[in-house]
Amino acid sequence: MDQTRVEHLRKGLVALCGIGIDANSSHLAGSADAPEAIRAALRGGSANDVTEAGVDISEVLVDVGDVTVTNDAGSEPDADSITTAITAILASGATPLSIGGDHSITYPILRAVGPKNPGLTVVHFDAHPDLYDNFDDNRFSHASPFARTMEDGLCDRLIQIGVRTATAHQRAQAVRFGVETVEARSLSAFDPSSVAGPVYVTFDLDGLDPAFAPGVSHHEPGGLTTRQAFDLIAALPGPFVGADVVELNPSRDLHGMTAMVAAKLVKELTARCIQDL
Ligand code: MN
Ligand code: MN
Repeated sequence: MDQTRVEHLRKGLVALCGIGIDANSSHLAGSADAPEAIRAALRGGSANDVTEAGVDISEVLVDVGDVTVTNDAGSEPDADSITTAITAILASGATPLSIGGDHSITYPILRAVGPKNPGLTVVHFDAHPDLYDNFDDNRFSHASPFARTMEDGLCDRLIQIGVRTATAHQRAQAVRFGVETVEARSLSAFDPSSVAGPVYVTFDLDGLDPAFAPGVSHHEPGGLTTRQAFDLIAALPGPFVGADVVELNPSRDLHGMTAMVAAKLVKELTARCIQDL
């Protein structure tokens, strides 16, 4: 990270933090290149800095650069570096908005965010529950971050939205940990107003239908539309205490369109992170 920019963070700002890890991916590499692709989409000139609700984020979102990582599979030092970086952002009073990287980054992020926010609800958009107890003998696998999160008690509620490929093991894990599952096929049953207290949003782009977000490693048909996702993010009560956007794989993208979806998510989430301060 750029230490000078970190030193100038304060409450009211949102820190954009890149985390280029894809070695914890079980299927394909490529998401390590996502932070630069998302930044390029944010700065590309085809869109402005104003959100759907009319919030100009240009003076709010501060790019603090990337967390330095080795990108070795299962790296404990990399996980510690992420937790340390997010802890530093939180200590400044700013809100962390991380761009992956694969979904392995979210557990070390929540090791920083969870203890600072009693009563935390994690709202998790994903085709997959990412609840494997053990995947590839890698405790930091992108298939396991929410097993680790629940084992450590880092949130009060975990709500998973868009799930549509849960194995029997993952269903048992959801019951074991009291995870609330909003399957893609029953999206309309979810009432965002049931959420109260601090919210952390973790957005795996494969929660969206591949038609809307083809640039991901795992194409799982039957997902959310971008419209449904933006409407849910707008409808969730705050305060938002942090967010991440993960699993963009630029090598699978078409004309940067998924990077643009990620960039728009960054914009909308940025506005939500300052809405209730
Ligand atoms: Mn995921
Ligand atoms: Mn996924």
